[in-house]
Amino acid sequence: GRRVICRSRPPVPYDLLSLNIGSTPNTAGVPGASEHAIPVKPIDGFLRRFEALQTRVLARKGRAAVALVGAGAGGVELLLAAEHRLRHAVRHAGFDASGLSFVLVSDVPNILPSFPAAFRARFHSILAARGIAVVTGAPVTAVETGRLMLAGYGPLAADEILWTTQAAPARWLAKAGLPLDPRGFLKVDSMLRVIGQDDVFAAGDTIAFSDRELPKSGVYAVRAGPALADNIRRTLTGRSLRRFKPQREALYLVSTGERHAVGTRNGVVVEGAWVWRWKDWIDRRFMRKYNDLPEMKVAPAALPPLADREALKEISAIAMRCGGCGAKVGATVLTRALAGLIPAARADVVVGLDAPDDAALVDVGGEKLSLQTVDYFRAIVDDPYTLGKIAANHALGDVYAMGGEPQTALAIATVPYGLESKVEADLSAMITGANEVLREARCALVGGHSSEGAELALGFAVNGLVPAAAALRKDGLTPGDGLILTKPLGTGTLLAADMRGRAKARWVMAAIAHMIQSNGKAAEIFRRYGVHAATDVTGFGLIGHLIEMVRASNVDATLDIDRVPLLDGARETVALGIFSSLQPQNVRLRRAIRDLAAAGQHPLYPLLFDPQTSGGLLAAVPLAEAERCVAALRAAGYAGADLIGFVTERSAALEPISLDLTGQRLAEALAGLYTTRARPHALQQVADITL
Ligand SMILES: Cc1cc2nc3c(=O)[nH]c(=O)nc-3n(C[C@H](O)[C@H](O)[C@H](O)COP(=O)(O)OP(=O)(O)OC[C@H]3O[C@@H](n4cnc5c(N)ncnc54)[C@H](O)[C@@H]3O)c2cc1C
Repeated sequence: GRRVICRSRPPVPYDLLSLNIGSTPNTAGVPGASEHAIPVKPIDGFLRRFEALQTRVLARKGRAAVALVGAGAGGVELLLAAEHRLRHAVRHAGFDASGLSFVLVSDVPNILPSFPAAFRARFHSILAARGIAVVTGAPVTAVETGRLMLAGYGPLAADEILWTTQAAPARWLAKAGLPLDPRGFLKVDSMLRVIGQDDVFAAGDTIAFSDRELPKSGVYAVRAGPALADNIRRTLTGRSLRRFKPQREALYLVSTGERHAVGTRNGVVVEGAWVWRWKDWIDRRFMRKYNDLPEMKVAPAALPPLADREALKEISAIAMRCGGCGAKVGATVLTRALAGLIPAARADVVVGLDAPDDAALVDVGGEKLSLQTVDYFRAIVDDPYTLGKIAANHALGDVYAMGGEPQTALAIATVPYGLESKVEADLSAMITGANEVLREARCALVGGHSSEGAELALGFAVNGLVPAAAALRKDGLTPGDGLILTKPLGTGTLLAADMRGRAKARWVMAAIAHMIQSNGKAAEIFRRYGVHAATDVTGFGLIGHLIEMVRASNVDATLDIDRVPLLDGARETVALGIFSSLQPQNVRLRRAIRDLAAAGQHPLYPLLFDPQTSGGLLAAVPLAEAERCVAALRAAGYAGADLIGFVTERSAALEPISLDLTGQRLAEALAGLYTTRARPHALQQVADITL
């Protein structure tokens, strides 16, 4: 069916597939191994598993027997590294490291069986010198709590068991109907094409050539990469494929865990600190290729010969326009565009454009008011399913910010011009993602409209319900309130950095996870803690949305800039000077900040203007409740939620927002030192701030 079936999302259709899923140490045939042993792969979770192991060893005051099963190069290297790290950690914690013992276990008679004898001999000496026992020719038949059962050897005590046995193929391959060798690896031809499948390629640990067995080693996987990419391009462009010719011999450098390494190639063995430095240099250079991506070059647009330099600058910047909420029209532009507009007057419009809020409130004759809101933006992620989730979540945010419950949604989608089957697949994935979020919010998708356009985009008109007395407005800020933000800031700068290839994958993945997190539970929690006002922080950034609140409430607010939660990587991308294309418009709102000369010097100051897509709620609860409210939010999964400031009486100062650069004022407010002093209201001055 040309579909990849995934565990946690709808199937992904493909025209051409490349399977590079590596291998995992085989625990399948050994009873108890998957419960009691720590496999080295999947590698992305190994560090966490090893850190948990170290914590357990320290809890035992360093008295622990550590066994590693599998004595190939990976196993030997890992055990030497573990020994070095654990002894150091145990000593550092003040315990006696002689309580630690290590043993390397292999089912075959030799450690490092595929390596030259001289190389093996060096490692026997190194292991002996480090006090690591070696048990060979003893296959593990079972793993039980605290011990390994070895054939022909009996039980071996082991408090911690690491598992690095031969590479085994993924078991699901057998169900995919693809040709496999007797061990279960994918059979490929010399063009890296799965035998008998014109549309499936594979490379790395997961493959088996029919004429030659390659070691399951990164050296070969890495070399196959360019050949694989070339053959995929050739297939798509109808050209003949090229053969991949793996090298006969490879260089192996195995670290001993003490900035020392042993290497071999063509039977020659070398050793020393310099070998380790060589290995380290190779490894870092390799990793840099994937971390320090070259800056994305934007093809200069053919610009009209305009005399107006400013206009020309703005037009050329459009090439790098952000999607998501970074694609919103700036607050100032919007205010000016809507100024003077006179909508039809209706008595049943409770909140409309005259006092704009997160959503309009309309009296439709029932016990509750109808909440109405619409959001729509260009794609910020390539995956339409994820975009669907983000867009739906973002649209629901306005209803939650108003204290309402979502009721119905209408979708509006733009899909790029393309083959019918692709358009259908994208649309289906996008709506599936959105509907999952809407269903969870008990919001019925009742209709929509779709069209073709230049770029993928999605939006929703959402209706909600709220009892009139429970509606949360932006104008409810009360002196003595604490200001709580539920999600970290930074999606604008991170997504802009991602467009330029400057954001790390884990930063972007974490930002996406936050954009997918619903504000629904947070809204419920705020209600329990006596919330006075709320808004969702989106395109105008934290300052833009806070200004809307303080203006409407005629109060001042103080923000403790160091408590503002930030997404991982946002500091770094801002330090690189990477901002959303909406940032300059948002920064115009700086006139609302007091003592700008000092505040503007703070390195995180630009993030206060960063436009958010599917951002968190900014809500005001009485300061006395604020810390308990934050604890409840964190317990409910809003890990970054924090108390970031407080509300005071409107002062005589022109600017309603001040930044607390030392954290002292918020601490004083929390300690009850803040007193509500009546100050002259300065309505005229509030109106004077040009937004
Ligand atoms: C401790 C240790 C040390 C090693 N040291 C070296 C060394 O110094 N030099 C060397 O050349 N080799 C070394 N190797 C071997 C090397 O790691 C592998 O040969 C190499 O990583 C294989 O590359 P690959 O791309 O085939 O698979 P991998 O690097 O394992 O990548 C496979 C990827 O596919 C993903 N994946 C797997 N299943 C699925 C699925 N169902 N759905 C979606 N994604 C999936 C995995 O998460 C992973 O990201 C070492 C191995 C170990 C265990």
